[in-house]
Amino acid sequence: MSFQDKSIECSDCGAIFTFTARENKFFASKGLTNEPRRCPQCRKAKRQQRRGLSGDWTSYVNRAMLSREYR
Ligand SMILES: [Zn+2]
Repeated sequence: MSFQDKSIECSDCGAIFTFTARENKFFASKGLTNEPRRCPQCRKAKRQQRRGLSGDWTSYVNRAMLSREYR
């Protein structure tokens, strides 16, 4: 099986990004047959957004509230 560089249009911002043969091969080795839908920037932004909303910020607030209660 051979892999080739491929241009994909990001479903979020519409930018054309390259899904390289190397990434393609990496995906396939992980058993992933779906191509990425978003450019690397949008994928990164999504990850940070999700973490910001449900992770770090919430736990930070909870910690802050707890530490105040126990003092
Ligand atoms: Zn994008």
